[in-house]
Amino acid sequence: MNQAVERGTLFVISAPSGAGKTSLVAAMLRNDEKLGVSVSHTTRPMREGEQDGVNYHFVSRDAFEAMIGQGDFLEHADVFGNYYGTSHSWVRDTLAGGQDVILEIDWQGAEQVRRLMPECVGIFIVPPSPEVLRERLVGRGTDKPEVVERRLAEAAEECRHALEFDYLVVNDQFEVALADLLAIVRSQRLRVAVQQDRHGALLAGLSR
Ligand code: 5GP
Repeated sequence: MNQAVERGTLFVISAPSGAGKTSLVAAMLRNDEKLGVSVSHTTRPMREGEQDGVNYHFVSRDAFEAMIGQGDFLEHADVFGNYYGTSHSWVRDTLAGGQDVILEIDWQGAEQVRRLMPECVGIFIVPPSPEVLRERLVGRGTDKPEVVERRLAEAAEECRHALEFDYLVVNDQFEVALADLLAIVRSQRLRVAVQQDRHGALLAGLSR
């Protein structure tokens, strides 16, 4: 009998804001019931339409710093003035249960996770051109020019780290980018190391 502990794969997905990452990850979850996404902790204020415990666990800076002290985070980072972090116990337990897990985090968090769990799969999502990125970040044109410029600078900073990831997905047409992401997930599940856990008995029977 195969005694190996079933383990899921950890997907780390990063992107500049404006690349469509959150919508793509939501669509991945709708299309693949074996995928789970980690709900991060953050100190940034809740935006309209967001729900505590669904989009993020919204906590105070004091509470976040106490969690850092207790070693509660797999990774954490200061992203443009707010803390963000991933619960270590949730990720560990969910992977141990055999579920594949997505972390939607910035490049600093991705770097920490890569160091701790080198077997993770890194995916970077980009918009199709600088012009499209600018259009998406400028939005309805109601933001002050300095706010738009800051967003563009932050997006450029994130993009400077694209080559540190395993896969690059260009979000030009949403459905194509989604298919690319689902193909990456599927190919990871077909790796011999993963299949061996699932089909150990089959392989043993066939090689008798
Ligand atoms: P937003 O505040 O717009 O939801 O997210 C801002 C940035 O923080 C995004 O790049 C997002 O990926 C990143 N982020 C969200 N959760 C985490 C986390 O748990 N850890 C890290 N390192 N970054 C995160």
